[in-house]
Amino acid sequence: MKDILIATNNQGKIKEFLVILNSLDVRLLTLKEVGLILDVEENGDSYEKNAIIKATAAARLSRLVSIADDSGLEVDALGGAPGIYSARYAGTSATDKDRRMKMIEEIKSHQAPYPARFRCSIAIVTPDQTIKTFTGTCEGQIILEERGEHGFGYDPIFFLPEHSCTMAELSPEIKNQISHRARAISLAFDYIKSLIQK
Ligand code: IMP
Repeated sequence: MKDILIATNNQGKIKEFLVILNSLDVRLLTLKEVGLILDVEENGDSYEKNAIIKATAAARLSRLVSIADDSGLEVDALGGAPGIYSARYAGTSATDKDRRMKMIEEIKSHQAPYPARFRCSIAIVTPDQTIKTFTGTCEGQIILEERGEHGFGYDPIFFLPEHSCTMAELSPEIKNQISHRARAISLAFDYIKSLIQK
């Protein structure tokens, strides 16, 4: 069975990758499981570039096919911010909750509704440094109160009109069908399959 490394330390993302790629005949390993600490500067100016930086370093160090993602929240009222800076939106030592509170504070002076989208690019890098990227988005709106217990990050304030609930109120099964990450991984699915068959 082929090994693939999921090159992230974010437990929420790891869980989602494991579920979405569950049907593949592959062993998905985490950085922790292969004993790697990935200390790279995410200094790219796009989601794709940051995902490539992480997956390239992981593939070089592990000699495994490595998948990394970079994602963020784009809020129209904030001109698309925080975007690639979503993780650092409230400073480097802030929690998910701090980021959500800052977003609510910042946005409430604008006119509702607050259209927004999550965007996720995943990069898949092979040990011979072949690079492929795939991008998915998920449209919704920011709301001014937290709702729901599932997911992570900005999920409790990200409302999905089509589902009449926030991303954090969706069951993980549904989130893993409609999220930006799920869409990016679905686009990558056939490519990942082809790598396994090599
Ligand atoms: P990064 O991709 O690790 O740089 O994270 C980007 C930021 O967007 C982090 O603050 C995450 O919490 C947030 N984020 C990424 N994906 C999701 C998601 O699926 N739900 C909620 N927040 C997310």
